[in-house]
Amino acid sequence: MLAELACFEQNCRARFPITDAIYNCPECNGLLEVRFTESKLDPESSKRVWRERRTSNQPLDQSGVWRYRELLPFDGQHQHVVSLREGNTPLLDGPRAAQYGGLDRLTFKHQGFNPTGSFKDNGMTCGVTQAVRLHRQRVACVSTGNTSASMAAYASAAGLDPIVFIPHGNISYGKLAQALEYGARTLQVEANFDQILALVRVLADRLGIYLLNSINPFRIEGQKTIIFEMLDQRDWNPPDWIVLPGGNLGNTSAFGKALRELCQFGFIRKVPRLAVIQAEGAAPFYDFVRTRGEFRSVPDPKTLATAIRIGDPVSWPKALHEITASNGVVEKVSEQEIADAKAIIGRCGIGCEPASAATLAGIQKLVRSGVIRASDDVVAVLTGNVLKDPDYIYRYHTGQLTDPEGKTLESRFGNRPVVAPNDADQIAKILEAKI
Ligand SMILES: *Cc1c(COP(=O)(O)O)cnc(C)c1O
Ligand SMILES: [Zn+2]
Repeated sequence: MLAELACFEQNCRARFPITDAIYNCPECNGLLEVRFTESKLDPESSKRVWRERRTSNQPLDQSGVWRYRELLPFDGQHQHVVSLREGNTPLLDGPRAAQYGGLDRLTFKHQGFNPTGSFKDNGMTCGVTQAVRLHRQRVACVSTGNTSASMAAYASAAGLDPIVFIPHGNISYGKLAQALEYGARTLQVEANFDQILALVRVLADRLGIYLLNSINPFRIEGQKTIIFEMLDQRDWNPPDWIVLPGGNLGNTSAFGKALRELCQFGFIRKVPRLAVIQAEGAAPFYDFVRTRGEFRSVPDPKTLATAIRIGDPVSWPKALHEITASNGVVEKVSEQEIADAKAIIGRCGIGCEPASAATLAGIQKLVRSGVIRASDDVVAVLTGNVLKDPDYIYRYHTGQLTDPEGKTLESRFGNRPVVAPNDADQIAKILEAKI
């Protein structure tokens, strides 16, 4: 669809061409969003076309992002598209998890099935496609996490040069390993996250690097398709709740925008409520929504769920708008609650990374407090793959997982490996014993 960039600040609303390489409003420094300048899209024929594309062998149709291209800001300019067949992630029933959370039924939308193992791929395919449209050869982000893994993969797939900046002494090996393998030039800078971001902004202008950080509005556009695909898979029956973890709050912003657009164009009539779950040690958005005071960042965010260890979430103004528009809620959960919920998701045969498990922990809390009812139709979005953080898993199951304060967490659903002698009788005895 034809689109432009618009300032998100309600008292500015300045507009810019869709091909301006800007990251914040040049007039007021506010966040930018994509705004469609057309107002017509037939929901019934779109639903039919999108469903038909699932049987197509065209790369564009096979992507669970670009299949919904009518609601993406690349109006017919699809020759630049960089796709690794992202999206196409399953809806999975988790009966054991439902019971644990206090629900009759619970469905997971598992974004860990993406090419690099997280929902960042849904956004990155659009972000890197925009870089190609702008004829940029170099792209960069500041991240030690899933963003760098995803950016490295998509940029390399497009023949671009990915550059990953990582704060000194703050490395997550599983994800960094992906960035290295996918060919990102990786610079470890002696500075903290904010200082590096400032540095990268200067360099981006000077060297013509396109930035693919969390506020990039094209990444948000791609992430909308998580909602499009989920509703398509449910034959356009909206659930009562969509539960997701909140870090930088880009996904919250994307989900809310997707739902508003689907309503605006008549695809759905009922809007699901968003429930955003944060970790207790990194919950600035929770505090803000509860108090409705001034937004205060958390200077030293702490959680083992590194994907949501964010003290100063850049997209909070958008997320606030979406929580309000969807009559949503924000909850926070402890390290122990995240760890236990994660093990339960594992026992469903599903598995996820720690940040994703905050969803089930949050559901249990919201059901107990009566916000979510047992009979509600709930979809929880699992954001990352179980293999992103194997160290956490091994430590949990062997009773060695310590929270950021150094306190050992209980291994309530632990599953210890057993050392056994080279002896059939003794092994038989071990296997017959009750667990
Ligand atoms: C990025 C990420 C999050 C946080 O999403 P935001 O959009 O920053 O709120 C949660 N889980 C995983 C696995 C992630 O990679
Ligand atoms: Zn502005």
